[in-house]
Amino acid sequence: MRINPQYINQMCHMAEKLQMTQQVKLKTEKNRVPGARASGNTIYLRSGLLQNETLPPAAITFVIAHELIHIHYRETGWNRAKQNLLSFCGNKKASALILLSELRANIEGRKLANLTPDEVENSLTLMYAEGNNGNDDNE
Ligand SMILES: [Zn+2]
Repeated sequence: MRINPQYINQMCHMAEKLQMTQQVKLKTEKNRVPGARASGNTIYLRSGLLQNETLPPAAITFVIAHELIHIHYRETGWNRAKQNLLSFCGNKKASALILLSELRANIEGRKLANLTPDEVENSLTLMYAEGNNGNDDNE
């Protein structure tokens, strides 16, 4: 599935704003539920996000920004998997750290993407309506 070059350009611009030195890749994966994940330096956008015609373009921009923030703070890969496993086993500190990293990704991602709080709220509401929180950073 082809990604609209507009989103690739936006991602490059946001990575520059963060002064990221690593090259971040944008890929797609087949999954009908709207959302995305970051693994290493790659953001995987689900087909259900890109093909959903009820979601505004701001929703996709926000998801990319959210995932970029995770990459920026190295909250992907083994670091995140370890926290998820500890949280699953009842470790409250790991659960709190995951919650804080998600909040930071939402807050800094909104600012990075230059979106209004209403644009983000509308995007998240529509993604929740599809049965998903829009982000699934389990790698
Ligand atoms: Zn996240």
